[in-house]
Amino acid sequence: MLFNPAIEQLPLPQLRKLQNARLREQVAYVQARVPFYQRKFAAAGIDAATFRGLEALTKLGFTKKTDFRDNYPFGLFAVPEHEVARLHCSSGTTGKATVVGYTAHDLEIFSEVVARSLVAAGCRPGMKLQNAYGYGLFTGGLGIHYGAEKLGLTVIPVSGGSTDRQLQLLQDFRPEILCATPSYAQVLAEEIHRRGIAPEAINLRYAALGAEPWTEAIRQQVEAGLHVQATNIYGLSEILGPGISQEDVDERGTGSYLWEDHFYPEIVDRETGEPVPAGELGVLVLSTLTKKAMPILRYWTGDITNLYYDHSVKRTHVKMGPIRGRADDMLIIRGVNFFPTQVEDIISGLAHISPYYQVVATRRGSLDEVAVNVEVAESLLRELGLYAPLTDELVQQHDYLRQLQGTFAKKIKDNIGLSMRVNLLSHGQLPRSEGGKLSHVQDLREVK
Ligand code: ADP
Repeated sequence: MLFNPAIEQLPLPQLRKLQNARLREQVAYVQARVPFYQRKFAAAGIDAATFRGLEALTKLGFTKKTDFRDNYPFGLFAVPEHEVARLHCSSGTTGKATVVGYTAHDLEIFSEVVARSLVAAGCRPGMKLQNAYGYGLFTGGLGIHYGAEKLGLTVIPVSGGSTDRQLQLLQDFRPEILCATPSYAQVLAEEIHRRGIAPEAINLRYAALGAEPWTEAIRQQVEAGLHVQATNIYGLSEILGPGISQEDVDERGTGSYLWEDHFYPEIVDRETGEPVPAGELGVLVLSTLTKKAMPILRYWTGDITNLYYDHSVKRTHVKMGPIRGRADDMLIIRGVNFFPTQVEDIISGLAHISPYYQVVATRRGSLDEVAVNVEVAESLLRELGLYAPLTDELVQQHDYLRQLQGTFAKKIKDNIGLSMRVNLLSHGQLPRSEGGKLSHVQDLREVK
């Protein structure tokens, strides 16, 4: 089943035509209504009347997070305030929150793309969905909620956190679908195991996870622990919220369909802002094609990924690879640029290391240092009879742990080109998600 087969399978030439027409309309719409874009267009010599659509897109320059802050709170709105049906804020992972507004029409589209996404994640009308995304100003909770209702699911609006209650509801209401951040899904999987809850006590089949970067190692852990098929859902408030792209449950690991009829994606070089060759990694830039309250052209998401077409599959829309990190999560250590997710990739290839980690950057004198804190699999520690929290002294006393530490450090050096200190920890020593996003990076250097 597809939610909107006519659009999801629209042949590419027609999709391009639709995007082109919508982009021109969106450009004319903001030129008539938004002083920020009026000034920008005037400075770049752009006029909607002669704008040539997609082929001229790069002339529009970028819209950045700072533009939202400079126009706080309602300066980017294209409609009078009384036409705004809802306000949300970004969760403020990086800096001050930004405000976004939606008309009733925008909310309709929001629900449509979330409904499409949930079908791709495995949901079918009549199923029950436990929504553990935070309700409130964050777009995740309400975004998923209304899309799920539109699809005809029964929504359990539990919101994030309250692990006892989440587990109770999973057992009593027996939902088939869980929506949560991947780090919170890890917590739920772990608690089910710790409390000895039998697999039959829980009826989950699918999980749609997003709002933060995650990897195949986390997917495996969550799938095994919750007995689900877990897919990626991506979005950001500046453009809409969750449901901008979504992985299909039967095509897990091959990228997430990005709903191109409403959002036009580009990948650009993070230094030069120029388009990168097809399929290569860079910063995702998104333009809304149908928004009314707050249309945004060429938004610099800061998210690093790539785009490609996978013509052998169910839909015609472009696929987006996993987010490798945010451009502003990138650490520059002794001149080497790296993303914390590169450490995560190494973890997925190592036995006896669990997918909990934290990268900590510090500065001693003028020298940057990086430590990677990782948890050792519980089963290994049990085998070694180690029940007290691991310390470096304990690690040094156990050949196997010492070797594990050495192998990990060597892989980091070989793959990333940097020496990092590896600290092995026991299960539970690293912070867990309390229901929302979890950061894997701590940059404790004074000057960034
Ligand atoms: P904030 O920018 O304050 O975190 P948002 O809630 O709008 O506010 O978060 C959007 C950001 O969350 C995206 O730009 C991206 O960095 C991250 N994100 C969302 N979904 C995913 C996902 N599936 N994978 C990786 N990162 C994601």
